[in-house]
Amino acid sequence: MFDVNAIRSEFPILSKKIYGKDLVYLDNGATTQKPSCVVKKIEDNYFNVNANIHRGVHYLSMQATEAHEEARRVVQDFIHAEHAHEIIFTRGTTEGINLVASSFGEEFCSEGDEIIVTTMEHHSNIVPWQILAQRKKLNLKVVKLTDDGMLDLAHLYSLFSDKTKLLALTHVSNVLGTINPVADIIRNAHLRNIPVLVDGAQSIPHMAVDVQALDADFYLFSAHKIYGPTGIGILYGKEKWLNKLPPYQGGGEMIAQVSFEKTTFNELPFKFEAGTPDYIGSTALAEALRFVNKIGMDNITAHENELMKYAMTELQKIPGMRIFGPSLAHRSGVISFLVGDIHHYDMGMLLDKLGIAVRTGHHCAQPLMHALEVEGTVRASFSLYNTKEEIDKLAEGVERVAKMF
Ligand code: PMP
Repeated sequence: MFDVNAIRSEFPILSKKIYGKDLVYLDNGATTQKPSCVVKKIEDNYFNVNANIHRGVHYLSMQATEAHEEARRVVQDFIHAEHAHEIIFTRGTTEGINLVASSFGEEFCSEGDEIIVTTMEHHSNIVPWQILAQRKKLNLKVVKLTDDGMLDLAHLYSLFSDKTKLLALTHVSNVLGTINPVADIIRNAHLRNIPVLVDGAQSIPHMAVDVQALDADFYLFSAHKIYGPTGIGILYGKEKWLNKLPPYQGGGEMIAQVSFEKTTFNELPFKFEAGTPDYIGSTALAEALRFVNKIGMDNITAHENELMKYAMTELQKIPGMRIFGPSLAHRSGVISFLVGDIHHYDMGMLLDKLGIAVRTGHHCAQPLMHALEVEGTVRASFSLYNTKEEIDKLAEGVERVAKMF
């Protein structure tokens, strides 16, 4: 049974008052709130299990090492990776994409080669490729969108060429909520021997992900968007690719042998984990994933889909409402909108005064804003702990602001 009130009671921040009003937290696309079990895990680790991991001969170090490696196995199970050593701990989605752009680019790309991205990417799946393109004199190709905010698949496939070295695209758009048909896209890309990197930052909290079923070559996400801590994330990479990529950063942990004559590198996954790992963050992430598993991802998806449906219906009743992105069938997690000519910033500021937290602006997707011919939008993004009552408050709030203008 999905009991939203019981779930809410596990998130202390949700009972906070903002300007004397109940908090309505609808900025989950930016970061989710944390359940008590995750915060307690962090405290428990620091108080009871803290010691630097790997190579320690003492009790605490071995205990902390085991917890960190167990966390890797929890992530492996969560995304159905074949091997635990295909799970690389990073600082987040952004760092993971930079890692792949740098190491993959170094090994596999040369002047005149092409990388494909899409118009709906977050800056973190654009800029690392631009930097690589500049460094290696590559061409960046950009997939267009359809009028209803989906990928133009015919255009995407027309961009495939013998020079294409990689396709990097998001699973779910952080602005439009579009769920991209990544399994089909990957199948088609592989027919042309093109590897695919999937930005999973906005899919991982909302839907079951099976990297083997998708056949993704690289899949990335951030812990903080799925009830885990800030500062840690995951790069999943197929063993066959990770083994071929050179290290991203040098330092402790990532080496086998160091001498001034010749240094050799550690095996996977440690080759890509230079320096002291965030072993507190990894175990807290594992706790967050256990929390999700306990509730059941299918239950979470069903609840959020209900909320989205309700929110779309209620928001569309408001005069002047303009919702961006596809129909419900192709959408997850977020609703971006504008009302009449009210500036997104004004709408966000005034909703805040009612205790309603939404995000405004370009959402780190300026090329998409350009394609939509807007400067920014208001974005409400949903999570497992949101309720229909909160959607009512959002709709009432938006209507109230609209009447003021
Ligand atoms: N990609 C997408 C689609 C995102 O929504 C975000 C976060 N807004 C990122 C990448 C970057 O994630 P992080 O800042 O945690 O690295």
